[in-house]
Amino acid sequence: MDEVAPNVFRATGTDVNVAILRDGDALTLIDGGYPGDIGAVEGAIRSLGRRPEDVQGMLLTHAHIDHMGAIVAFHDRYGIPVFTDPTEVAHVRRDYLEQATAKDFLPMLHRHGVLPWLLRIARAGATKPLSLDDAHAFPSDGPLDLPGAPVPVATHGHTSGHTAYHLPQHGVIVTGDALVTAHPLSKLQGPQLLPAVFDHGTSDTLAALDHLATLDAETILPGHGPSVSMPIAAAVAQAVNRYRIG
Ligand SMILES: [Zn+2]
Repeated sequence: MDEVAPNVFRATGTDVNVAILRDGDALTLIDGGYPGDIGAVEGAIRSLGRRPEDVQGMLLTHAHIDHMGAIVAFHDRYGIPVFTDPTEVAHVRRDYLEQATAKDFLPMLHRHGVLPWLLRIARAGATKPLSLDDAHAFPSDGPLDLPGAPVPVATHGHTSGHTAYHLPQHGVIVTGDALVTAHPLSKLQGPQLLPAVFDHGTSDTLAALDHLATLDAETILPGHGPSVSMPIAAAVAQAVNRYRIG
């Protein structure tokens, strides 16, 4: 686990990140990894000298299983409330599903690293049916009344209700899958878009990046890959450029 800014931590599940915000004894979780990552998330919290019960609220960037798996397990085990974008609440409930399935990856199976990655995520529970009826839309605009005071930033595109979280007091942006810095299916390192197979709408994802680029943030904590220190506008420019070159 690394502390990317004071009281802002990046913990890792199975090829995916979990952000932990600390304010005194109280914590906020942003995303949770796969269902099988719950032990890793609990371990990260305990390594901070805190207990899972100290988590006051959990935020989702989006309802894909690699981000929401352990959030559902945490909610069931500890009864901690879950918040996300109003549009994403229905996705969390699985009224609809905007997620790649195993058959989407069949044409890529010959590529280096794809099969081991699929086996790894299957072990982490990637094929488990998952839903949560009890997720809430953000109660208000602006900073949330949770440890770390995260500010939701609508970045719809990767999913219809995808949200990034800005921590203005630390100049940190938690980008979820709107912008990542590595992925097992990508040869690139550094700011980039996810491979298109994961996106619900790539044109919307590009529009969302324009919005992200306007924020005041110099530290990026992505959904996948290491955190990086660079202005978000420069990271967005690099990611879009790489996407256009393709
Ligand atoms: Zn993801």
